[in-house]
Amino acid sequence: MSSVDAVVIGAGFGGLYNLIKLRELGLSVRAFDKAPEIGGTWYWSQYPGATSDSASEIYRFRFNKDLLQTDVWPDHYVSQQGTLQYLKNIAKLYDLEKDIQLKTKLVSAAFDSASSTWTTTFDNGEVWKSTYLIMAVGIFHTPNYPKITGLENFKGPVYHTGEWTEQYDLKDKRVGIIGNGSSGAQMLVNIADDVKQAISFQRSAQYVAPHPNKAVTAEYREKINKTYDDVWKLVDNHPTGMPLEHQATSALSVSPEERERIWEEVWDKKSGFSFMYGVFGDIHSSEEANKELCKFFNKKIAQIVEDPEKVKKLTPNELYGKRPVTLSNYYETFNKKNVDIVNYQHTPFVEITENGIRTTEKLHELDVIILATGFEVVDGSYATIDIKGRNETLNQQWARDGVSSYLAIGDTGFPNLFFSVGPQSPLGNMPPIIETQGTFVHGLIAKAEKLKKENGGKPVLIEADAEAKKGWMDLCRQIANGSIFRNVKSYIFGNNGPRGDDNPGIFWLAGYANYRKAVEDATAKDYAGFKFSS
Ligand code: NAP
Repeated sequence: MSSVDAVVIGAGFGGLYNLIKLRELGLSVRAFDKAPEIGGTWYWSQYPGATSDSASEIYRFRFNKDLLQTDVWPDHYVSQQGTLQYLKNIAKLYDLEKDIQLKTKLVSAAFDSASSTWTTTFDNGEVWKSTYLIMAVGIFHTPNYPKITGLENFKGPVYHTGEWTEQYDLKDKRVGIIGNGSSGAQMLVNIADDVKQAISFQRSAQYVAPHPNKAVTAEYREKINKTYDDVWKLVDNHPTGMPLEHQATSALSVSPEERERIWEEVWDKKSGFSFMYGVFGDIHSSEEANKELCKFFNKKIAQIVEDPEKVKKLTPNELYGKRPVTLSNYYETFNKKNVDIVNYQHTPFVEITENGIRTTEKLHELDVIILATGFEVVDGSYATIDIKGRNETLNQQWARDGVSSYLAIGDTGFPNLFFSVGPQSPLGNMPPIIETQGTFVHGLIAKAEKLKKENGGKPVLIEADAEAKKGWMDLCRQIANGSIFRNVKSYIFGNNGPRGDDNPGIFWLAGYANYRKAVEDATAKDYAGFKFSS
């Protein structure tokens, strides 16, 4: 058995950030990842068209402005390859590889009260002991392979967007894409010109807002470099953690004409996220305001899509309340002769046969099926890992209490275990969220290490207080109850397993800026909500 001060599980954005921060404390740290490369979800999602939909100047850590000059920032919204390259550059710059062990999957972790240590066991038989355990496995970790009748009978290949690590030949093929979240939409737009036919199979049509992408010019790069701190001020004050302006005004406080003018401007020029969180402050909380926006989106769909039948199928029949999908040319793509949509609400799914997908209307013959069906969000990341705390496993605790946390960073009964992007993290741009949490964990551990020294080396345990956790979860619940997201079925409220009407959802829905404030408040109160004991 080997030992180290801290074990980090995951080598994506979260794992790398925590590795850097813990090393700053002079601790010995070892990070593990099951993948053959670093990158986390950006390694596993190499499907055609995979792109970050957060502006690339901030889809990174704020400390390394210098990297804005490098090869990884050619476009305003950076591709999967660019993001992966960025993470590789970070690993090189900070000499992280020497502390990262790839192709090594965590099987179990157990806390031992007698020695106050964690024991982690990996699929290659290695066992490591550590004082601290950082779970940086993220929320998009385990692909969702839904049980679809007849899928096993299909004679062509079936690929999943969340497990796409090599390029497949789709040229001149008849391709069916099941799922139309960000991955399915990006994939469709990207492959449409290469394939013989692309059909988007949709269980529920989604609103897709454009996201004008363009090459980053030398002038823009210079401007961002000069005002980098201001860019991050915008990030820190925005609900999504993106550098966007944010108005609190109600969409209903202006005239219909003014609303229309503002939304037309966003459609043509701004980030698609500005519809949900930008020009008006109540799209995510007021049903009436949300319905007005839906009418605007529906008008755009009808304007852009030429075939009235396709318009009907592409028009959602619910509020705008899933994780926003933002990308350009989505609706335009359906004007291509080789691109079609099947909406299961109009023509229900019957089965998959060896030749394609049968609906009540007909058999759609296909050569390839792509599952763009997302992930077993949060619980999936942890479902296959046996993490035993003081008394029970994390999965046992969550099966009883719901998937929960304190501050999205720790959980009661699991001393010295910290999440990077744990349950009830904000729904938003991940790198700033990861930084906020990693900085907090750094502070917690710095305090514990200081106490340990003062204690003559006796180990110190950091654990979320049960009352603090209850208060946090009640707050998450209260916020979730006032949210439009609750009215629309999606993974945000746990598609992957019902947890009752009182389900707080898997995200903190009051936005990144408020989350950051909650974490800063806890820090200012000497890490309120976490108990330190020895
Ligand atoms: P997703 O958002 O969870 O979408 C899954 C899609 O699959 C939905 O359209 C869903 O339909 C459909 N689906 C699931 N099970 C199905 C079934 N049994 N039959 C038919 N359809 C089924 O997954 P994703 O698109 O992979 O995205 C995952 C996360 O990554 C999201 O947060 C997404 O925004 C994010 N992402 C971000 C970027 C980026 O630019 N940064 C890029 C890609 C993805 P329903 O809507 O009816 O449930």
